[in-house]
Amino acid sequence: MNFKELMQIKPKQWGLRGDPHLWDEISEHLQHEEVPKDQKDIEAIIVRCIEDITGCSIENTSEVFVERYSQGGMSSGVVSIDFWLNKALPFLIENYLHNLQESCFRNMSFDITTMYEALNDSVRINRSNDSIKIEVLSIDWSNPDSPITSWSVYKQLPLDCKLNVEVNTLLRSKYFGYCESCNSYKIIGHMDSKKMCQCCASLHLGKIY
Ligand SMILES: [Zn+2]
Repeated sequence: MNFKELMQIKPKQWGLRGDPHLWDEISEHLQHEEVPKDQKDIEAIIVRCIEDITGCSIENTSEVFVERYSQGGMSSGVVSIDFWLNKALPFLIENYLHNLQESCFRNMSFDITTMYEALNDSVRINRSNDSIKIEVLSIDWSNPDSPITSWSVYKQLPLDCKLNVEVNTLLRSKYFGYCESCNSYKIIGHMDSKKMCQCCASLHLGKIY
């Protein structure tokens, strides 16, 4: 997806009268640029583009006058930087995530690797006609020689849920731990202690699993 496609849906409300002009110009400017995966990169590209187009640094600025947008009258040609930072950018990110979510669903099943590569083996997301089900892998170690794995339903959600928010909440739930050694989320059954996963524990502490 490129920025022009992302910017096809416009905000219903603008900050000042120069904003819709700037929107169109950014969309043209970035029409061949692919939207990056990382939200921070998306924001950085838009901010850089605003600065290129208006010729002003957005730091410590709340409004910028762009002469070619001006058609006379009060506030004509004025761009609201506050609007761009606090409304337009979140609006674009939200639309991007929505698009990403839609494109990740193929045949009712969600390819989570696009969003969270490392969770591929431990989270699965399926869509039926009326809901989305998030399941998480759990491991029962009561017999260490042959642990039993099973899938538990974490949540059943409406179709218009925000999966990125839900998955982020799941990562902070009782089902997951965070290994400070390899800096990644692991399901609780793969944690050795509160702050270290089993892989790291066998690597660094010589524990045997
Ligand atoms: Zn680890």
